[in-house]
Amino acid sequence: FETKTVTLNSGYEMPVYGIGTYSLLNEECVNSVSAALENGVRLIDTAYIYHNEESVGEAVRSSGIAREEIFVTTKLYPNQFENAEAAIDEALDKLDIGYIDLMLLHHPGDKDADAYHAMEKAVAEGKIRSIGLSNWYIEELEEFLPQVSITPALVQNEIHPYYQENDVIQYIQNSGIVVQGWYPLGGRGHTQELLNDPVIAEIAAAHRKSSAQVILRWNLQKGVTVIPGSSNPDHIKENTELFDFELTGAEMEQINALNRNEKHDWY
Ligand code: NAD
Repeated sequence: FETKTVTLNSGYEMPVYGIGTYSLLNEECVNSVSAALENGVRLIDTAYIYHNEESVGEAVRSSGIAREEIFVTTKLYPNQFENAEAAIDEALDKLDIGYIDLMLLHHPGDKDADAYHAMEKAVAEGKIRSIGLSNWYIEELEEFLPQVSITPALVQNEIHPYYQENDVIQYIQNSGIVVQGWYPLGGRGHTQELLNDPVIAEIAAAHRKSSAQVILRWNLQKGVTVIPGSSNPDHIKENTELFDFELTGAEMEQINALNRNEKHDWY
């Protein structure tokens, strides 16, 4: 990406980087999202299963920033698929920010097509602006896409230098769908190994940037949007400073070569 926003196939603009809120609860979530908004972050990723939609909504409402300038993603969990219409209204209630910018199905499950159809209806009703999927891979997409009338705007999957998913990224991008990486910094518990990786540390030193910034920038240069999680205001700010440097083709190749195809976590 050369700009800080990307236009989704729904016609709406989405920031290419944001903050993830998995594991942030209550006051810690409100404070982290508020710090992100104060530092210019305009994309916030939450989900029903993170139990923090209320806190995200509170931070958005109290920010004083115009609603249209903020992009909020939430997700339906598979145990909600059967009653997706009610679950969408529940998310709207909890967030209490008028509309949802992007709603994803958190991962495949029973009745996922029915849940997607409920999201399509909610788009027609103006409750949700864009819809998409998470943890969907090539075979699952091939089976799913013919069943829907609104092409997903975005697919959010695990992507980081140790787990690159290049064929999946290409398939999704070739379908006109924006890719978003979860665990962009390797995920909780694995981040230190990735941040301390000598290849990344050396590239970071050459640019006078941090390892985290280099990894996030690598994603952006691959056309992958990022939602790093953090409750540390310094890290939150650092994770926004991604447009004042560029990795060379050789540096991109060095990071591409770190792929271990090692998936750290499921969902
Ligand atoms: P991450 O890879 O984004 O971050 C991992 C760790 O990096 C965090 O513990 C944080 O303390 C640390 N960190 C952040 N910025 C740093 C910096 N600048 N310097 C040093 N350390 C830094 O992992 P995550 O937060 O678990 O995941 C990101 C987001 O992805 C989640 O918050 C969530 O919104 C989303 N997610 C989605 C799914 C899914 O199934 N769709 C699954 C997991 C996570």
